[in-house]
Amino acid sequence: MGDLTKNFSRHEFACHDGTPWPTEEEEALQRIAKTCQIIRDEWALLSSDPRVTVVSAFRPSWYKRQDLKPTSQHAERSELKDTPPCAVDLQPVDITCASSAAFYSMIRRLMDEGKIPKGGLGRYPGSFTHVDDRVFWGYRAAKWGARV
Ligand SMILES: [Zn+2]
Repeated sequence: MGDLTKNFSRHEFACHDGTPWPTEEEEALQRIAKTCQIIRDEWALLSSDPRVTVVSAFRPSWYKRQDLKPTSQHAERSELKDTPPCAVDLQPVDITCASSAAFYSMIRRLMDEGKIPKGGLGRYPGSFTHVDDRVFWGYRAAKWGARV
């Protein structure tokens, strides 16, 4: 059981170096965790294994090359970026090229149906799908990697 939603916990959204999601951005964390739960619940209807892994979420400015990418939706709010972190990279536990394509299409449909906030959606075939709610913060939606 998760401590944010039914299946997702706070530690899953921390940076890989252990830095937790910023406490001052709790609202954004609650929103993205809710989105993850809606995605997982929908995936459970399509897949025999409903489990979804958070591959990566928060990345502080000092993590890897995020300092060179101030507009990354994973990065913390700074003077160069007026949105809080609002992104997750998600991957079904049962990951294949086919399941990653189905997973991406399902999330795209959830955005189109207004069941999760619109934002960024990026597919990395056979791997994770990037999801963010940048539209909530006044940015245009962006999609990439849709072709199989
Ligand atoms: Zn991402």
